[in-house]
Formats: sequence, C-alpha cells, structure tokens
Amino acid sequence: MGLANCPECGKLFVQNASGLCPSCYEIEEFEELKIVDFLREKGKASIEEICNATGVKEKTVLRMMKRGRFKGDFEITRPCETCGVQISEGRLCGKCSKNILEQVKHSETKKTEEERSGTRMYTKDFK
Ligand SMILES: [Zn+2]
Ligand SMILES: [Zn+2]
Repeated sequence: MGLANCPECGKLFVQNASGLCPSCYEIEEFEELKIVDFLREKGKASIEEICNATGVKEKTVLRMMKRGRFKGDFEITRPCETCGVQISEGRLCGKCSKNILEQVKHSETKKTEEERSGTRMYTKDFK
C-alpha cells in the first residue's frame, strides 16, 4: 500500500481498491447508486444518457465500468470511436473492429494486390 494522488481531487491518500481518496469514493458511491437507479428504470442506456440524467461525469461512469460495476446487471452503451454507433463493449463496434482487422490484413497483402489490380480506391459512405 503506497500513497497516491486522487485522480478526482488531487489529494494525497493511501491507495485502496477504489483508486480514489475516501471522500471522493463516498461521492462516487452515491453517484453509483444514482446510476443504478437510472439503469433499473431504463434497462439499457448510453453513457451520454446516464450523464445527462444523473449529472455524473462521463469520466466517472467510464471508471465505474472499468471496475465492472454494472457488468451483467445492466447494459451501458457508448459510441464507437470510429463511427459513433452505440456499443456495449470495447472501443469499437463490430463493424469497425472488423474493418481494422481487414485493414491490417489488407496492408499485409496490399503490395501483391496493388500489383495485381492497380491502386483501387474504395469509397465508404459514412452516415
Ligand atoms: Zn479525492
Ligand atoms: Zn464503429
């Protein structure tokens, strides 16, 4: 157990499982209850909806999610970092993570493909 600066208020505190100083942890526990109440009503919500409805900071919601606070009980969605579609896990939606995988594969085979078919441009229509 060492000392750390609280990521919320910057105060020095003895490190614990929550990663927050005791006073911020108290606030966070309270905020968590608010979120749980909200989720109980909605069943499923995006981080944005949670922030708007409860006034809890997005950063805080993300930290709670990282700790697995709502896992299994509720579904919290967040926008995919690439296309903005609401997803419940990870940083990218299935489509975008597949695209990235394909891009990796593509760049590996790019050379031979370019030789075969010339440089082709693919146009994607984004919403
Ligand atoms: Zn603090
Ligand atoms: Zn996406």
